[in-house]
Order: sequence, then structure tokens, then C-alpha cells
Amino acid sequence: MKFFDSNLKIETQIARGSKSFEPVTGAVSTPVFQSACFRHAALYESTGFDYSRAANPTRQVLENTMAILEHGKYCLAFSTGMGAISAIIKIFAPGDHIIVSQDLYGGTYRLFTGYYEHYGFAFSFIDTSDFTQIEAAVQPQTKGLFIETPSNPMMKISDISRCADFIHKRGGLLITDNTFCTPYFQNPLDLGSDFVIHSGTKYLGGHNDTLSGFIVHSNDTYKDNLLNIQMSEGACLSPFDAWLTIRGIKTLALRMKKHQENAAVIAQWLAAHSKVEKVFWTGFENHPQYELSRRQMRGHNGMISFYFKEESCVASLLKKVKLILFAESLGGVESLITYPLVQTHSDIPDDMRRAAGINERLVRLSVGIENADDIIMDLEQAIN
Ligand SMILES: *Cc1c(COP(=O)(O)O)cnc(C)c1O
Repeated sequence: MKFFDSNLKIETQIARGSKSFEPVTGAVSTPVFQSACFRHAALYESTGFDYSRAANPTRQVLENTMAILEHGKYCLAFSTGMGAISAIIKIFAPGDHIIVSQDLYGGTYRLFTGYYEHYGFAFSFIDTSDFTQIEAAVQPQTKGLFIETPSNPMMKISDISRCADFIHKRGGLLITDNTFCTPYFQNPLDLGSDFVIHSGTKYLGGHNDTLSGFIVHSNDTYKDNLLNIQMSEGACLSPFDAWLTIRGIKTLALRMKKHQENAAVIAQWLAAHSKVEKVFWTGFENHPQYELSRRQMRGHNGMISFYFKEESCVASLLKKVKLILFAESLGGVESLITYPLVQTHSDIPDDMRRAAGINERLVRLSVGIENADDIIMDLEQAIN
């Protein structure tokens, strides 16, 4: 599977991916194999590709790249992050209980409670950055732990190694949504997580131009099961979206460095603003899990949430931003601002949202790769 030596540095692995040229033509850019099916030379003969739902050469280059970057043996690419999450839950069986981060992507909550509970899966949503809550949530049927770290939108950090040890002792599995850090800053499989999930729509693709999702793992027991889920359900990534994601990933290292650099400046500027009550960014030294983040992460992303002192500041900010776009996503080159209460987290019940800290005064900013001074200038005119 590995095209290069695995001892290459991560920037090189990111820039070159799993295949740095196409062997037949020498094309440096992976071709978009826009073909639904593949010719057989004779009975029982196959190039390894038969039908694109099962496997497609462009998608395979991307899957191999993500396996390399996340230090896994296997990767499956889905049409969206939700497609990946929907697939991974199917390794469990009706009757199984799964402990889930309370402060998580709203769509994941909607999928688990609005759909999988109906089919007999049980979920407990708790603050997984607080280990005592994990211990208290365990039931005899607990088979899995699903964490998002850092969490969305409160930037809480859960201890991946400790979660892995805990659930493994009970014979269960740990799934980590690594969308916020990307493999450039964090590798959950190295810390004991059994599966890594990504919404490639965010930092990996990085340009707000395509959707994609991934499961990466090294688990031989579930390898065929997961392949079968991907092939049978058909939520696989299209060749063109795979190509866009391959292209996006090539600059991931550069982008993440810039997101981090910009976020550091902007988080500090916001923290000093008289109308801002509190700022959440994982890179602050006074972040409650800063020590843990130093152990399990190699850097900090461009995600900042903050509370205004007054609710009235929110609508005014969202209307007045010019450079920053009021739009519901994250991780792209363009700075985006979101209002979690009515957008990303609208499907989470109000008591649970409030317990997590999501209220009328909370705004989430995905800092892009523009010049930080320009982003601050835009925030300044929009807040005042
Ligand atoms: C966006 C997101 C998802 C869902 O991914 P889609 O590509 O939008 O389906 C899952 N988890 C996290 C943390 C996300 O930010």
C-alpha cells in the first residue's frame, strides 16, 4: 500500500500522498477516473477494478493517502463525513450502548438520536473531557466510546489514550472524530483509538468546494465488514470529489500552520475586547486541558468560539461582517463565522446545548488563511 518510505516527514507525506505520479502516463496529478465500470479481459480476470461503488482508482489513491497520514492500514472514503459516521456505527449491533461526547457536531447527534436509536442502538451523551462522567455512564451493554476532540464548538479536549484503555478493558471500541485537528496535528490511532473519522469537507479538502468523509483504521476483524458496508450502502466518494480532496490535502501542512498562526493572534485580540466575555481556543495556555493537548496534539487549529457579554452583539456582528463570511462550515481557506445555537447545533435539545455551554451569546469563528490583520479589521468594524 505504501508508495514511499514511511519514515518520510509528515509535510512530505502530505505533499506527495500515496502516489506521486500515475504509472501509465506519468501524469503528476492523479487522473479523475470518471468511469462507473471497468472492462474485464476475460472470464475471472480483473484489473482490480470492476465497478466504482466497490473501488475506483482515484478514490483508492485518496484512501491510501489518508491511511498513510493517519498511520492506519485501511481507509474508506465516503461521500460526506456523515456517511462515514453512519457506516462506523454499523459495526455495533442493536442493543449495544455507546458513550458519546456531549459537545459534538450537531449532525452526529441528529444521526444517533433521530435514526439509530430507532433501530435499537443506545447512546449516552456526556462530557468526555471529564473522565468521571465516562465512568459513570458505563452500562453492562456499553460497547463503544465515540469522542470528538477538540470538541465542537466548545474546544474541549478528551484524553484519547485514557479513553482507549478504559473502553478496551471492557472489550469495547474507541472511535475518534479527528476532523478538527487533522492528521497534521493529531493521530488518534497512535494513541490507541480503534477508528478515526474525518469530515474531509473541512480542513482536509480545505477550500469549501467539496464534501467527503473517511474512516481510517488498522483492525483486521472489521476490515471486510466495513468494506462491505461501504460497498453495499453506496455512500462512497465520487471520483471528482476524491480528486478535489487529493488536491486539497497537498497543502494541508502549510494551511494548518497558517490557521494556527492566525488563530493565535485573533484569539488574543478577541480575549482583550471589551465586548467579549470569554474566548475558547485550544492554544491558550490557560485552556483547562492545555497539558493534555501538549501530550496528544502537535498544534492548534483555526477554530475559535467566544461569548459576547451582550446577546445583541451577535446579530449585529453577523450582519456587519464583510471579509468574514456568515456561513455554516469550517476549515477552509476563507474565514467563516457561525452561530451554533441556530445553525450547526439547532437539532440538539436545549437543556443539553446549555449544559455544553452553547447559548445565545456564543459565536464560532473558523479562521482562514487570509492576513490576520485584515480579519481583525473586519471583526473590529463589525463588533463596534
Ligand atoms: C462537518 C462535521 C461532520 C460531518 O461531516 P460532513 O462532511 O458535513 O457530512 C462530522 N464531524 C465534525 C467534527 C464536523 O465538523
